[in-house]
Amino acid sequence: MASLDTPLPAAATAAAAAASAADAGYALRARGLAKHYGATVAVDGIAFGVRRGEIVGLLGPNGAGKTTTINMVLGLLQPSAGSIQIEGIDLASHRSQALAHTNFAAVYAALPGNLTVYQNLRFFSLLYNVAAGASRIEQLLAEFDLQRLRATRSGLLSSGEQTRLALAKALLNSPRLLLLDEPTASLDPSAAVLVRARIRALAADSGCGILWTSHNMYEVEETCDRVLFLSRGRILLEGDPKRLPHAHGATTLEELFIRLAREPLEQQPGTGR
Ligand code: ATP
Repeated sequence: MASLDTPLPAAATAAAAAASAADAGYALRARGLAKHYGATVAVDGIAFGVRRGEIVGLLGPNGAGKTTTINMVLGLLQPSAGSIQIEGIDLASHRSQALAHTNFAAVYAALPGNLTVYQNLRFFSLLYNVAAGASRIEQLLAEFDLQRLRATRSGLLSSGEQTRLALAKALLNSPRLLLLDEPTASLDPSAAVLVRARIRALAADSGCGILWTSHNMYEVEETCDRVLFLSRGRILLEGDPKRLPHAHGATTLEELFIRLAREPLEQQPGTGR
């Protein structure tokens, strides 16, 4: 399990020390974050944070800007404006240090299908320079019930098994910030329960901050400490998923989600827009 006591590289420590005191306690902070594609505004100047040990749900209808936001945090997309700090380290100016303890899992990010389960984890442990990689791999094979599949090529795995492998890969480098794009979408209910419990334990035990996208409102209510509702690139609402529905006259999170997704911005409750 990752620990906050694990030392950061010296350059990252210096960069973190230079970061604003306002970032203390945060695994992730984004300010004024925007992404434009020509006339399309995918993300419209949003500000948000994920505290250490916190699980934040990034919710919103199709096309709201969730994947664009995640890809900017992962350094895969250059923001049109704004800044991102990971563990207090500025992504734009200290990219490799900021990303050294970041990882992600998403169904669309398939792992090399011609490598076995073990070879995949070995490959990524070398790429991430994981100390004691062999024992870390054995630990993750056991945690994600992948031992009997260790010699199977990952391209032959079922989608649920591939998801478990993607999660094991995402935890190899003991991340301090984990981005999960619909991590349970292809899991059967019993596997999904185990994965949610594993992710909650990770946040609680290691202090890893987690940004989680899902269209499953039951799962979000069960798992997330806080949610951000994104629509047309803007954050409309944020808060505790167990309290938000009642605070905004809805019975369930799903009912609130549907209302927010359908109504125009200027009619949204409490947005001040
Ligand atoms: P979903 O739930 O469907 O995955 P999302 O919230 O992840 O949606 P994004 O994929 O971030 O949404 O897309 C946000 C908006 O940006 C959409 O209107 C999309 O069409 C647009 N968009 C995304 N990538 C590009 C691109 N490369 N060029 C032009 N427009 C893009």
